[in-house]
Amino acid sequence: MSWLETMKKSFHIGSRGEVPGGIWVKCETCGAILLRDRLIENLWVCDKCEYHFRITPNEYVELLFDKNTFSELFASVKDIDFLRFVDTKKYYQRIKTARSSTGFNSAIITGTGKIDGHKVASGMMDFRFIGGSLSSSVGEKIVRLADYAIDKKLPVIMITQSGGARMQESTTALMQMAKASAAIGLLAEAKLPYIVILTNPTTGGVTASFAMLGDIHFAEPKALIGFAGPRVIKEAMKCELPEGFQKSQFLLEHGYCDKIVSRHHMKTEVSKVLGLLMD
Ligand SMILES: [Zn+2]
Repeated sequence: MSWLETMKKSFHIGSRGEVPGGIWVKCETCGAILLRDRLIENLWVCDKCEYHFRITPNEYVELLFDKNTFSELFASVKDIDFLRFVDTKKYYQRIKTARSSTGFNSAIITGTGKIDGHKVASGMMDFRFIGGSLSSSVGEKIVRLADYAIDKKLPVIMITQSGGARMQESTTALMQMAKASAAIGLLAEAKLPYIVILTNPTTGGVTASFAMLGDIHFAEPKALIGFAGPRVIKEAMKCELPEGFQKSQFLLEHGYCDKIVSRHHMKTEVSKVLGLLMD
């Protein structure tokens, strides 16, 4: 059975955060009403407009890694409510809910695995975990991942999916931008490739730090990638924004992304680059 067949079988029907339950799912880009089973079969890609619905780190593991090769690292690193922050809810309550709904301790999953036989270290963000926001645990795990990769001489594959920095951690969350960027800088010094896969959405402090520091940037089709959102920019600039602003095609045309790759071909493309850079 090919990896694609294995992955299709492993995709489950369940609560996904962005898509409603039921037999039919509405595409949020083109508005097409899609049969859920067909969507799962098509790796959560709209067959009318190619919009890529968000998928989870577990699903990216199935998508990218050779069967049973992925092994999680630093899983015990978790967020702490050191400010005892309260907005509409207590921050520790948000953390607790995110942990129980995702089964993870952080908005990033880190580990190692093989892609067509190439051993890599990888970080995969999870939007379900408080909007995939950059917190102290996310920064810490990126640093540990980079150190591990340097020690073992492995390339790093990062899949980004984030609404920005974790506001509930205040300045400490913003400091993670510098901390993660410095760790990625050490990969460059060690001459190890850092490949970023930008998925929908990649915004805020994540875009302004480790998401845009790749040697190679792939992006999923129609992904929103930017710093501030288009509505905020439109209000600040007081002008109409160009069509497709902040979508992956727009970034490709303006030199911020190397290639737009469909989920169906992502493993092949990543593997090709690894073959060129590591063999
Ligand atoms: Zn669509």
